[in-house]
Amino acid sequence: MKNKINSIAVLTSGGDSPGMNAAIRAIVRAANFNNIKCYGIYRGYQGLIEDDFEELGARSVRNLINRGGTFLKSARSKEFREKKYRQIAFNNLQKRLVDALVVIGGDGSFTGADIFSKEFDIPVIGIPGTIDNDINGTDYTLGYDTALNTVVEAIDKIRDTASSHDRLFLVEVMGRDAGDIALNSGIGAGAEEILIPEENIGVEKLVESLHKSRKTGKTSSIVVVAEGDQIGKNITKLAADLTEDLPEYEIKVTVLGHIQRGGSPSCYDRVLASRLGVGAVDALLEGKSNIMVGIQHKKIAHVPFEDAINKKKTLDMDLMRVADIVST
Ligand code: ATP
Repeated sequence: MKNKINSIAVLTSGGDSPGMNAAIRAIVRAANFNNIKCYGIYRGYQGLIEDDFEELGARSVRNLINRGGTFLKSARSKEFREKKYRQIAFNNLQKRLVDALVVIGGDGSFTGADIFSKEFDIPVIGIPGTIDNDINGTDYTLGYDTALNTVVEAIDKIRDTASSHDRLFLVEVMGRDAGDIALNSGIGAGAEEILIPEENIGVEKLVESLHKSRKTGKTSSIVVVAEGDQIGKNITKLAADLTEDLPEYEIKVTVLGHIQRGGSPSCYDRVLASRLGVGAVDALLEGKSNIMVGIQHKKIAHVPFEDAINKKKTLDMDLMRVADIVST
């Protein structure tokens, strides 16, 4: 038996990621398929407070699946942390008779969603949208696959110049708390060493490994460094310190930064976004609330917000072993 839902709203919140547009499109079309009215809310929770809504029909999301970013725009809202502003946000939903909300974002956005849903007894479903892949309960987050491909493509280009000049490049990638991007892009791009937040290999081992690489005939090297790696030095400082220990290399630094957030979503992210968007509307029709719709072993999974927010996702550390072996 389907739960009666007449009208829903969708917003994107926190850091943007490729695939958010494809997810909005899927939600709008799944709503349309089920005769549900759908509103888009601009600028995340801030737009919800400021009443920045637009009704979206199936045709208003055309030519969107291939576009990076989020046409609804994303924002961080300090005001939403205060109950008096959440009350205004709820009033804006109520005056349009909106029965449920879909939030595409990261764990901070889910924390806000969980509080809001419990406070006003309104169903809220989350879709994990962040390039970091750091949300517990889903094998992949929206935008992660695209970001990996962006990073690998960039490192391939860096390798061309690194090998032409016998240089050592330190390449910083996103990941303050999670090493998924660094580890997987590092393996995919053939990096000599990978520094991640989950493990401290230490400067000594790094130096030893790079000396060894040189001795075994490698003339250039790539070290992928996650923003939050445990050696814990600013990448420029790390490069300066390594210069003393590795006089045989000319060391250069590249910080990839926000290019990792942009770009047309990969096919994987488009399909994932489509599945999660339809999955979110299905979940609302099944009467679900306070859950994230994620993907586990290729199947749609419903994960309580509490588990998605509070439990730490574990990184497959066997990948470090694989990285060590294939980089010898
Ligand atoms: P990213 O992973 O890209 O950082 P995120 O969703 O974790 O994305 P945050 O900036 O942590 O991004 O959170 C987004 C928004 O969620 C905040 O700006 C705020 O409006 C809302 N939010 C976060 N925590 C709370 C909270 N405790 N109470 C109410 N709202 C919150």
